[in-house]
Amino acid sequence: MRTSQEYLERLAGMRKNIYLDGEVIGRDHPKVVHASKAIQLTFDLAEDPAFTKWLKTTSHISGKPINRFTHIHQSSEDLLMKQEMTRVLCQRVGGCIQRCMGTDVMNGLSVATKNADIKYGTNYHERWLKYLEYFQENDLVGACSQTDAKGDRSLRPGQQPDPDMYVHVVERRPDGVVVRGAKLHNTMAPYADELIVIPTRALGKDEKDYAIAFAIPADTEGVYLIGREAFSPKREEGMEAPYYDLGDIESFTVFDNVFVPNERIFINGETEFGGEVALLFALFHRHSYCGCKPGIGDVLMGTTALLADYNGVEKTGHTREKLADMISVAELVYAAGIAASVKSMKAPSGTEIPNIIYANVGRRHAGHNIYHEYDILCDIAGGLPATLPLSKEYNSPVVGDFVRKYTKRRSGVSEENHYRAYHMASDILTGEVGAALLVAGVHGGGSPIMEDIAIMSTYNVKKKKDLAKYLAGIKED
Ligand SMILES: Cc1cc2nc3c(=O)[nH]c(=O)nc-3n(C[C@H](O)[C@H](O)[C@H](O)COP(=O)(O)OP(=O)(O)OC[C@H]3O[C@@H](n4cnc5c(N)ncnc54)[C@H](O)[C@@H]3O)c2cc1C
Repeated sequence: MRTSQEYLERLAGMRKNIYLDGEVIGRDHPKVVHASKAIQLTFDLAEDPAFTKWLKTTSHISGKPINRFTHIHQSSEDLLMKQEMTRVLCQRVGGCIQRCMGTDVMNGLSVATKNADIKYGTNYHERWLKYLEYFQENDLVGACSQTDAKGDRSLRPGQQPDPDMYVHVVERRPDGVVVRGAKLHNTMAPYADELIVIPTRALGKDEKDYAIAFAIPADTEGVYLIGREAFSPKREEGMEAPYYDLGDIESFTVFDNVFVPNERIFINGETEFGGEVALLFALFHRHSYCGCKPGIGDVLMGTTALLADYNGVEKTGHTREKLADMISVAELVYAAGIAASVKSMKAPSGTEIPNIIYANVGRRHAGHNIYHEYDILCDIAGGLPATLPLSKEYNSPVVGDFVRKYTKRRSGVSEENHYRAYHMASDILTGEVGAALLVAGVHGGGSPIMEDIAIMSTYNVKKKKDLAKYLAGIKED
């Protein structure tokens, strides 16, 4: 298992291929190091007695201790531990823990590679197992590159006027393939060791070139990581806070004729399994959302409760009702994730798969409510989050006293604590990180319509219609 220092050192040695704010930068750039702080914690806390039971587990292939973020779930208990771990880590950083992408895609590949081999006699699972061994041994961080640019949403991949709208194979060689296209919205790709690339959607039989899944180092020749950063406003010395550490760099990940060697290819042309791995990643990721969204909900609810307390309105009826609403959202999503863990099933590969309906209704409920949760925080906070002077003015010898005096609400709470609480709310409601999390809350892991599709294609509606017929006394239509 690696330390965060070892993680950062490996990143620092990678080729510079991050395009951010007008520069080409390496992974030792202060912005990348800052954005990777959430990932660093997943290494640091693995040895912390308060967190080790979640972060450390045993590899089912080597029997060695590994970080749970590199683990393939073998039981319901594993799924529960991952879900719980995700919630506690999101609480700790105040937002997205970011490392789950790689975990979820590796779990998806564990299932689809085996299923493809069973049907076609291919050896994808063996290849992938070798890769898993390397992944676990080196305690790697993987970014999941799934979402294609997609062009015209009404057209299939093979119908797009520009075939690059979906990542596809442009050349087949004896030793591998060459791919082209772009995967958008890649969380933490600029500070991942590896890019794990899978298709976005179900594919038609004539779309073999789009049925490609593989893993490559994130600095491979031909890969461009075009970044978009999100950080909270800078804080003056003395006003630091853990929430400030939370940052993020998303990327448009471009594959400009990138060579992928055979040993790193896990699906290649088997269209139904290209589609299957797309759905499986989404399923594992929506289950992770049943851990992270409650964690982020805890941050939003806790901040709302704190501001209500400092404002002197904590006990009013409408505040209590709003807090109850926030608690219900977080805990229902969490409960759906628990149900998905308990009602899970075993794949032929041995991987434990979360229940499709419960994981999807949980993620759907989270997506439908994220703006509602932000709305309640905004309501209780009043207008201050949008107008609060920043810490330079707070520390100013001329106007600092005014900032402190007029931010204060009730007695018994210091001026500094009032200011800190409102700064936190301001970061969440008006900062780049809070805004990115809001959009992620709707679309990350699939827009709500994608959960509707997953639910309606799995749920046995006919059984419920038959029930209604039975109760109504209808024998024949
Ligand atoms: C902060 C953030 C982080 C993310 N991280 C990752 C990541 O690490 N890796 C990754 O692969 N992806 C990631 N995603 C991508 C995420 O999964 C997608 O945003 C999501 O699947 C929606 O795709 P889209 O953004 O292309 O939206 P669109 O496809 O443009 O969808 C927008 C809306 O259009 C409508 N629509 C689109 N297509 C159809 C259709 N066929 N039929 C009917 N209606 C349709 C729906 O109403 C949908 O809500 C991330 C997204 C965000 C916001």
